[in-house]
Amino acid sequence: MKPIIGISSSYQPASADGSSLRPYVQAIETVGGLPIVLAPVADGANVRGQMELLDGLLLTGGADIDPCYYNEEPHVHLGSLEPERDEYEIKLINLALDRGLPILGVCRGMQLLNVVLGGNLYQDIESFVTGAIGHRQKAPLGYASHSVIIEEGSRAYSILGPKTRVNSIHHQAVKEPGEGLVITGRSVDGIAEALEGAKGLPILAVQWHPESLGMEDKAARAIYQWFIAEAQKNTEA
Ligand code: MN
Repeated sequence: MKPIIGISSSYQPASADGSSLRPYVQAIETVGGLPIVLAPVADGANVRGQMELLDGLLLTGGADIDPCYYNEEPHVHLGSLEPERDEYEIKLINLALDRGLPILGVCRGMQLLNVVLGGNLYQDIESFVTGAIGHRQKAPLGYASHSVIIEEGSRAYSILGPKTRVNSIHHQAVKEPGEGLVITGRSVDGIAEALEGAKGLPILAVQWHPESLGMEDKAARAIYQWFIAEAQKNTEA
């Protein structure tokens, strides 16, 4: 049995910020998962129904998160929001955490997971972090533009080793980690680029887009392979 992976989606049209679903679907198929796209439904019973189908949850990139969810007012450089998607994904994440489902968070997915667990964000890196490097690359998304240093002994370290090169198209970032989460990868300016579950929880989140680097990228593939291996355990239970 292939593990069934739910991929969170948006009602917004695909855009250049990596919100197209194709790279996620292709990544999951490449590493041996069965991808299904999750419609952002409003009915809580339907969210629970979706959750029962899944062996793993992939939280995709997209719009900014409403800062009300971490008790802040909107900063002038806050980007566009998708309130119904926020509401939906927050329910989805809570259910996945209750079930102990493997979670892979990408970009917005990392940020939202952090917020759900009580963490907060920089609403705009350039406005709050002096000396920040470029996190909105002008190069194509398939190109790795900056380094990430990984903490020794972490899950990310076992997957990626001490250092990796990543793409970067975000203007927000995790500030303080939520409960049960640890920041285990940072760019040289200190921005959080990898986040994971403490105590062996099968949760990994990255600020970059490994699926857009392509599965030929060894590090990108290793992340998705880890995720599928965790989800596979649910098909054997
Ligand atoms: Mn970055």
